[in-house]
Amino acid sequence: MERKILLNPGPATTRDTVKNAQVVPDICPREKEFVKLMKQIREDLVKIVHGSPEEYTSVLFCGSGTICMDVCLNSLLPAEKKILVVNNGAYSARAAEICDYYQLPYINLKFPVDALPDLKEIENILADNPDIALVYATHNETGTGILNPIREIGALAHKYGAGFVVDTTSTYAMRPINIKEENIDFCMASAQKGLMAMTGISYVVGNRRMIEESRHFPKRSYYCNLYMQYEYFEKHGEMHFTPPVQTLYALKQALEEYFEEGEEEKWNRHRRVFEAIHRELKKLGFRDVIKREWQAGLVVAIKYPEDENWDFDKIHDYCYERGFTIYPGKIGNAKTFRLCALGAIDEEDIYEFFRILQKGLQEMKIKIPVFYHEVANEKK
Ligand SMILES: *Cc1c(COP(=O)(O)O)cnc(C)c1O
Repeated sequence: MERKILLNPGPATTRDTVKNAQVVPDICPREKEFVKLMKQIREDLVKIVHGSPEEYTSVLFCGSGTICMDVCLNSLLPAEKKILVVNNGAYSARAAEICDYYQLPYINLKFPVDALPDLKEIENILADNPDIALVYATHNETGTGILNPIREIGALAHKYGAGFVVDTTSTYAMRPINIKEENIDFCMASAQKGLMAMTGISYVVGNRRMIEESRHFPKRSYYCNLYMQYEYFEKHGEMHFTPPVQTLYALKQALEEYFEEGEEEKWNRHRRVFEAIHRELKKLGFRDVIKREWQAGLVVAIKYPEDENWDFDKIHDYCYERGFTIYPGKIGNAKTFRLCALGAIDEEDIYEFFRILQKGLQEMKIKIPVFYHEVANEKK
């Protein structure tokens, strides 16, 4: 199959072995053979974040990553309690929007999108609002690529008796995570990002006792209730409703390949790709948005050059026609685009991409190094 390189923030480039794993004889997912597959997948998903199987479990949902945000927020809030959303980017803003849609009581604690959240402020809010039962944060804000201090936020949540939900969709199975050490009660991801599998299946990895407790919480959704899905898995070993069968075969293959590559090796590869992106960007004079030491190592948000010939869509199309997909930014109205280190790619793919990008810039008469008006507008 023709190999396409996706430099967008997911779905990620997949291997042919994973694509082909979807082609299986027809099977009814209520068969024992399939139940066995689900069991292995659920265990592996907990293992990836080093959770003990007694303390943590995983629950699968049929949907894209956002379904897990929806599930955690609507299922884990006791009656008469509040959620605190630590909001410094587009993905935590989405969590706030979910709270709005369910009319959940919540505090939307906003911070600048290009900076780390202020822990003091988080603590003050927690101290002033003893009815906060759940704190929500995003690990890698995929819009900017900023890495949030989840361990510290989690410690604060626990100090004030709240549970801690982290959106790890763009770090899980890439940046090593130890669920307990990071003070995470619930994290989440989808198959098409860190695990380089197919879209359509997403999962919450979380504290078993807290899921059990949530059976008494108000039920706000039918299809997207965490306890309901968990209970069905525990009793029958299956999803409550029809799972995406072929997608799960691909996930099984992707998990095998994950453990084969190894947590550390895989993270080294992503970092290698990330470093190559930075090196090549610098050569062309591009500027990124977030302070380097705050970046999670997976997403680079880049400012549009101020060259009059710069046209992102044209550049995108030029690269796309040559097998490389790049992606617009997600930072309010700021003019940015993104290059990501997700997926089954390596350094050489980045070098090849930049050869094409450079050629495209030249053909479009965009000056190299690319041009910005502000002189040495050093990042804070
Ligand atoms: C990709 C992503 C999601 C989920 O997006 P979907 O389009 O629903 O898959 C959620 N949170 C973060 C941080 C992400 O990067």
